[in-house]
Amino acid sequence: MDIRLVGIVGAGQMGNGIAHVFALAGYKVLLNDISEASLTNAITVIGRNLDRQVSRGKISADEKQAAMDRIATTLNLGDLGQTDLVIEAATERESVKQAIFDELLPHLKPETILTSNTSSISITRLASRTDRPEKFMGFHFMNPVPVMQLVELIRGIATDQQTYDALHAVVEKLGKTAASAEDFPAFIVNRILIPMINEAVYTLYEGVGNVRSIDEALKLGANHPMGPLELADFIGLDTCLAIMNVLYDGLADTKYRPCPLLTKYVEAGWLGRKSQRGFYDYRGETPVPTR
Ligand code: NAD
Repeated sequence: MDIRLVGIVGAGQMGNGIAHVFALAGYKVLLNDISEASLTNAITVIGRNLDRQVSRGKISADEKQAAMDRIATTLNLGDLGQTDLVIEAATERESVKQAIFDELLPHLKPETILTSNTSSISITRLASRTDRPEKFMGFHFMNPVPVMQLVELIRGIATDQQTYDALHAVVEKLGKTAASAEDFPAFIVNRILIPMINEAVYTLYEGVGNVRSIDEALKLGANHPMGPLELADFIGLDTCLAIMNVLYDGLADTKYRPCPLLTKYVEAGWLGRKSQRGFYDYRGETPVPTR
């Protein structure tokens, strides 16, 4: 299957990163969002991130320009009708994704592969409501997309081998590495990573360590590049809590119960870096632990 034109729905944090790596790998990209401001911002962010790669000598200025020239934007979802592959990267709400697929499907060619970058919604369920469950897959990029090497490929129950093989080849063309995951809550990376972060919050909650000692312990004692609480602030504490709830509900096992202290931080609106406060306070020159 020849994939040339890629449609991306949702031009937020993930959508713009996905557009960046596809354009740089030579694909033509059509980026869609309901918000004009998101599309404008995405082009600015992609330009800035490509500039950083130029200044580090990773790509040339010509390659940057060629990548920018391969990206077009549209507010009209129907314009994605001629794409060979669609990656849905809109807001993490099932009703939003459902409405996008309902509106998009009548415009798509029968052979177009449809994917979602969802972190937590069942791929099998999303696929079952489309006209092409065998051509539907989870295509889970990591944040920040231009930097992170891994892409999780998640088959729904009905996904066929041809679709899997086509996406595997795309991941290779992007210069990234695929990990295959079955369609169970949080797939592989978040299934392991987020309970570890939740356990770090329990360690804090129970007073076994403070923010600094927990982060230092995992950095120096387990060779992790970032401490778990620092990482939680980077991911967003609301996102961490939402994923714990997906695990708790989806696997019906009390070992996944979210730490009450994590819930408390989210209730306070202390969501990590994006709100300037989480396990660290980012409002000053250097981050200061909040516990
Ligand atoms: P975001 O909030 O940064 O961006 C979402 C974008 O979707 C916004 O620009 C919004 O305007 C747009 N949107 C909303 N409704 C739309 C519609 N009907 N049609 C078109 N666009 C619409 O979110 P994000 O962090 O980029 O996450 C997007 C997806 O990627 C989610 O499914 C999330 O689970 C997944 N994901 C996120 C991360 C992460 O670390 N942020 C990592 C992996 C996967």
